[in-house]
Amino acid sequence: MTAPRSTKPRDRVSFDCDVLVAGGGPAGSTAASWLARQGRRVIVIERDQFPRFHVGESLLASVNDVFDAIGVSDTIRAAGFPQKWGATFMTADGVVERYADFSASGIRAPQTWQVPRATFDDLLLKHAASCGADVREQQRVIDATFDDCGVTAVVQARSECVERYEVRARAIIDASGRGSLLSRKFNLRVDEAAFANIAVFSHYSAVPRQEGRRAGDIVIISRNDLGWFWLIPISEELMSVGVVLPRGAAPDTPYEDWLDHAIAETPAVSRLMAGARREWPVRVEKDFSFSSRAYGGPRWLLAGDAGSFLDPVFSTGVAIALESGLEAARTAAACLDADSWCGAALRAFAKRQRRRYLSFRRFVVGFYTREFRELFFAPDPPRRMFRAMVTVFAGYWDPPLMTRAWIMLFFVLVRLRAMFTIAPAARSTLTGGNVEHPAVR
Ligand SMILES: Cc1cc2nc3c(=O)[nH]c(=O)nc-3n(C[C@H](O)[C@H](O)[C@H](O)COP(=O)(O)OP(=O)(O)OC[C@H]3O[C@@H](n4cnc5c(N)ncnc54)[C@H](O)[C@@H]3O)c2cc1C
Repeated sequence: MTAPRSTKPRDRVSFDCDVLVAGGGPAGSTAASWLARQGRRVIVIERDQFPRFHVGESLLASVNDVFDAIGVSDTIRAAGFPQKWGATFMTADGVVERYADFSASGIRAPQTWQVPRATFDDLLLKHAASCGADVREQQRVIDATFDDCGVTAVVQARSECVERYEVRARAIIDASGRGSLLSRKFNLRVDEAAFANIAVFSHYSAVPRQEGRRAGDIVIISRNDLGWFWLIPISEELMSVGVVLPRGAAPDTPYEDWLDHAIAETPAVSRLMAGARREWPVRVEKDFSFSSRAYGGPRWLLAGDAGSFLDPVFSTGVAIALESGLEAARTAAACLDADSWCGAALRAFAKRQRRRYLSFRRFVVGFYTREFRELFFAPDPPRRMFRAMVTVFAGYWDPPLMTRAWIMLFFVLVRLRAMFTIAPAARSTLTGGNVEHPAVR
């Protein structure tokens, strides 16, 4: 993928920084922290003033590897976020429960966190600054043009006192989230129409938690219309509660009523929410799944949601953002050192982004089918097969061969079930009666 050339004559030698990072969310902060710790000159342009609200509060265990790589583990531990050891999946009636215990999967550091994103993202961005990155908030990259030696980004500040200005860098990492600065510019975005779901959510107090070590875990409650609920304890008091419903479930009532209705018609959720009090406005996100035809090219790389994002059912977003932010940073450094943007490093980066996306996508597609859920919630699943799946749920999407074989077997069984079972159609008053999720097969 070749980036468009700038038509403007520029100073081709002097640079404001080595790498410009567009976006200071988890992907951008990670990339900036790693590069700055390597002694690279980094400028981060962030549109908002942190701390700011962001959806996506449940982390996977694999994030611990990235925290170590950018030297932020102690800071995260000291922040006192609720500890997450796994995920409880439950049927809509609450009768069947599957506990994905990350510590049973044999991974190095199974305990992770539930994070109010305002605090978490702010902490990561401050860490990037403390590593030496020049962080500029309330400014937006509005365009980037490329030439043989570098990239020229146009930056617009929110404040009227600051004029629009240019930043000259040797490379850019686009970590602008779902705004996808560069993939839109290069027309690379591939929307996943089948996952054009809608999420409605808020924060509640007085929601009971699980016992003991599981008190901080996420609870995922399946709905009969193939939608699902999340309950994430993000602080001692607050529970993030949200419902994801298939496309076509466009409400004709206010979102507040809609969320209340969804809670009321999902027995396992309504029991847990019986004494709950809503403490935040109800928020909505839609059409949030997409990938990219390319993840990097001459002097540019995509990280986190700027490259792709999948339906949040397995809480993969932040883990992917952190991992891909780190990979983008390492790739940028390798390409700058080699003074080449067509070598193995760039190809390996792109391949890894795509493989990770497809690996998680298989689970997401599966989760929106009845066969997957029936098998997943079936009594006594083979222990080794379930353990293999938990490894992926913990964020380790590229596990050893044996684990992959168990996962493959699970999907073969799902397929067989789909071929030989005639399931009754799911019903929901929110999605208008019989529902077949568009992602099905
Ligand atoms: C309903 C829903 C629920 C979710 N739940 C979870 C969950 O439980 N766990 C999980 O891990 N993930 C979850 N996610 C996904 C998660 O929110 C994202 O994957 C994650 O925030 C991606 O991080 P990022 O750094 O790539 O992007 P972001 O966090 O979006 O950060 C991008 C940053 O770039 C800035 N920006 C945008 N445009 C520009 C620009 N032009 N110039 C400069 N700055 C710019 C933005 O202000 C923002 O701060 C969920 C997503 C949805 C939609």
